[in-house]
Amino acid sequence: MLVSKLMQQDNNEGREESIEDLTSKVFKLIVEQGKEGILQSRLWKELNLTSRDGSRIAMRLEKRGLVTRQRVLENGRWTFRLIAVRLPLDTTSIEGAPCITCNLESMCTVDGSVSPNTCRLIENWVLVEMSKRMNEEKGSDATTTTTLSTPSTATS
Ligand code: SF4
Repeated sequence: MLVSKLMQQDNNEGREESIEDLTSKVFKLIVEQGKEGILQSRLWKELNLTSRDGSRIAMRLEKRGLVTRQRVLENGRWTFRLIAVRLPLDTTSIEGAPCITCNLESMCTVDGSVSPNTCRLIENWVLVEMSKRMNEEKGSDATTTTTLSTPSTATS
């Protein structure tokens, strides 16, 4: 219900962000299931979505070439299994990736006028992700240093 209402109000910037958040969450969950994918009913349950709203998001991802919907018979009923078209090595950075919900995605090519090489959205996202990674690494270095320095402090 919520998503249906949100999708009817695409002009409202704040609400559009909510749709993007949900779409990212759905895509991330699908990717996390690997090559097996996930039954859409299970996905809707996990994200507390109605089948109508979930289906809209799944179709949106399919339209962008990010997932396939395979028709399967499950407990005597036809349903869809959602599978990511390409699986990244690391799923942690998927949430918030601008390409997932980009309206220009179908026109975006490396050599085209719409291209990741000139895209501000992807540039900003990469910078933010890199900065997060660096901060995480600094944090884990500090933890390692503390852990390693504790025994030597204790023995001296
Ligand atoms: S690179 Fe930019 S323009 Fe291309 S799909 Fe991603 S966000 Fe859209």
